[in-house]
Amino acid sequence: MGPELVDRFGRVVRKLRISVTDRCNFRCQYCMPSENVRWLPRSEILTFEEIARLARVAVGLGVQRVRLTGGEPLARPEMEVLVEQLAAIEGLRDLSMTTNGYFLPEKAEALRRAGLGSLNISLDSLRRDRFAELTRRDTFERVLEGIRAALAAGFPVKINTVLMRGINEDEVTDFIEWGRQMGVRVRFIEFMPLDGDRRWSRERVVTADEILAEAAKLGPVESVEADPHQPARAYRVAGVEFGIIASVSRPFCHQCDRIRLTADGKIRNCLFALEETDLRGPLRSGADDEALAAVMRGAVWSKWEGHLINRQDFRQPERAMYAIGG
Ligand code: SAM
Ligand code: SF4
Repeated sequence: MGPELVDRFGRVVRKLRISVTDRCNFRCQYCMPSENVRWLPRSEILTFEEIARLARVAVGLGVQRVRLTGGEPLARPEMEVLVEQLAAIEGLRDLSMTTNGYFLPEKAEALRRAGLGSLNISLDSLRRDRFAELTRRDTFERVLEGIRAALAAGFPVKINTVLMRGINEDEVTDFIEWGRQMGVRVRFIEFMPLDGDRRWSRERVVTADEILAEAAKLGPVESVEADPHQPARAYRVAGVEFGIIASVSRPFCHQCDRIRLTADGKIRNCLFALEETDLRGPLRSGADDEALAAVMRGAVWSKWEGHLINRQDFRQPERAMYAIGG
């Protein structure tokens, strides 16, 4: 299929994040509102076949890596069936998933067999009480069990840890030590203005500089060469590598090579986009692959230069993270 997905600033899209559901069994403070959550009606959610078709078109346009996310992707039944369909797409180099880990004790092996390549698992505290405060669910042990199940099934595992001031910013060194013991790479993520309660404030962001200062308590911190298109910058301290995703204090928009497909079939060309491009409409009214590709190209072309978090006129998107697909 025709040329690649390229925007006005010359960036080429190589990664697609697909949200398979907006539903979630957790209620993380930085992501979802605590109550009155309105889920998308089932009829609006793309079927596995629809997702696989759009992924195939995107791969034909140069996408090399697909990550499944949500909401909680494993809250959708039989995810291994979708994984198998996607893993079979010719030209797709990498298929991964971001999950809260809750369903992994039962699901890890089936996902591995179906062709999933790696897992990012979210874990924001190593203390049960804080974990429960952050996720609003008392399931710490179960998530640890999920991480162990993922490792036992042979997955490369990365841990996503969102830091929020006043809650877990003092766990940086504990997490680095724990990562060493478990054989997993921990990536600390700055809290972004995508929370369901709209209580984000700059003061609550634990910045990359602060994270590095904490890490330095373990010894001198060195930078490690990493793929510039990865959102995480890589570091090493006391022989352990870790990452920092500093979307707020050190934006990496100029290197961005990703777009997102929401569970209801909209392309979001940026996490913070205020507009979306509908693919479900054309898909369900019989558009052929070339027409779908044209919609994708248009959505990518209109991508802005970068997010506006650090400007006065920043507006938080209507959708919170769980409804976008993080
Ligand atoms: N439910 C899965 C999970 O938690 O891993 C996948 C979806 S979740 C939206 C994807 C990632 O986004 C998680 O690692 C989560 O910690 C992160 N995230 C959610 N809201 C965030 C926010 N406001 N700022 C930074 N990261 C956030
Ligand atoms: Fe659910 Fe993941 Fe959002 Fe937490 S971060 S509420 S687990 S979607």
